[in-house]
Amino acid sequence: MSIETQKIYEAEFLLENMREILRRTAPDHRFSEEERKEFDENIKKLDKIVGEMRKNKYTGSNLKYIVDKIELRRREEDFINIDPIQAGGRLTLEARKAMIAYGDGYSICDHCFKPFRLDQIQKPPVHEFMEELAEFVGMETARVVRGARNGFQIVSNALLEKGDVALVSSLAHYSLCLAIESVGGVWKEIPLNRERIITGENTERKIEEVREKTGRLPKLVAVSHFDYIFANEHDVYGIGKTCREYGVPFLYNGAYTVGVMPVDGKKIGADFIVGSGHKSMASPAPTGILATTDEYAEKIFATTKLEGDLTGRSFGVKETYLLGCTVMGAPLIAMMASFPKVRERVKHWDEEIKKTRFFISEFTKIDGNKVVSEMPRKHTLTKVDTTDSFDKIAKKHRRRGYFLTDELKKRKITGLFPGTTREFKLNTYGLSWDQINYLAEAFKEIAEVYGLEVR
Ligand SMILES: *Cc1c(COP(=O)(O)O)cnc(C)c1O
Repeated sequence: MSIETQKIYEAEFLLENMREILRRTAPDHRFSEEERKEFDENIKKLDKIVGEMRKNKYTGSNLKYIVDKIELRRREEDFINIDPIQAGGRLTLEARKAMIAYGDGYSICDHCFKPFRLDQIQKPPVHEFMEELAEFVGMETARVVRGARNGFQIVSNALLEKGDVALVSSLAHYSLCLAIESVGGVWKEIPLNRERIITGENTERKIEEVREKTGRLPKLVAVSHFDYIFANEHDVYGIGKTCREYGVPFLYNGAYTVGVMPVDGKKIGADFIVGSGHKSMASPAPTGILATTDEYAEKIFATTKLEGDLTGRSFGVKETYLLGCTVMGAPLIAMMASFPKVRERVKHWDEEIKKTRFFISEFTKIDGNKVVSEMPRKHTLTKVDTTDSFDKIAKKHRRRGYFLTDELKKRKITGLFPGTTREFKLNTYGLSWDQINYLAEAFKEIAEVYGLEVR
């Protein structure tokens, strides 16, 4: 770990020690002699660190763990992280501050009054946030859910009966298939075309096939705009149109889009928009969004209807498929704290694409490096193939595929699956131009070290 990162953590923890004393001595913070001493000792240590920071000259530190076996995480401080699933979920500064202040369990419930529902809380402005979220994705109603998968589950629960067919992409994420299965539904796959794209025509053909075989239309079509394997762009407009023609509801899976690029559910013709907070909205896990139209809001956000047979109890306006309240405390507040920046950053998606394209053009200057995803890139997530370059080295290297992991680590780059040198995914989202240049140079340098030709 870099000494700078270590010292920041040390200083933060000293402040937390002091905060602990405030909690212990609430409400008047009248310290005992013992507590005064403890407080002062923390100040003294903090003072020393601040002194070192001021001079930018550090003595060592052996802080490595939060508690036994739980290491400090420093991926985002000390490395360039190109992990395919982590780039868009990196927290904003504001979200990290929110995590510190709202970490306590049900902290979101401080000012929760009638009708006792998460989306109705005014302070902090949860209600306003949900309205803004709906608008953000061009829909009428939105809720925060526990990850994109929980969004799939809620829609599946509301729409599918046992044995009902739902169509998914041949590149669908496992969690979507499991959500359908979990409610007794059956998922069927829409085939890719030759370019590995899901089109409106293929969706239509699959709908017809299901109708022929079962005598009924599928109950749901769910396709991701950019899949998680190649991050190819699928024809969500065409699929939306097909679904409208057949009257089959369309779930737009925006796990890789909502929060990084503009998404307009109206324009797409989607009935449901699902997004992932921890994948693409600079939020902690587990967070996501589920948005819908007025037409479907009552169905998927249906409120509880039953009452107790002994007590007659009922639960008011709690939303059944959501199990009442969803994401509470720090994850929700952090998501809200990130939102202003998220709303702004989607406007600069084209710049992210420029950076990715530049990186890919540099990366493919290495003889044998190929791109498996569609070209030119329309997403910052890309699958590449280095069978004819790095994998050739790996075959003869004593560390096998780990040689690449080692070389990247030496250059403070992380996030690739350890040991793979054939096909792997990387995500450049959020890197600055300097970091992009650094990344490209690092790969080219490694290639040269091992005698691969770089054009
Ligand atoms: C990551 C991902 C998911 C799952 O998202 P969670 O928010 O973790 O539930 C679903 N679909 C696709 C296409 C994904 O990439």
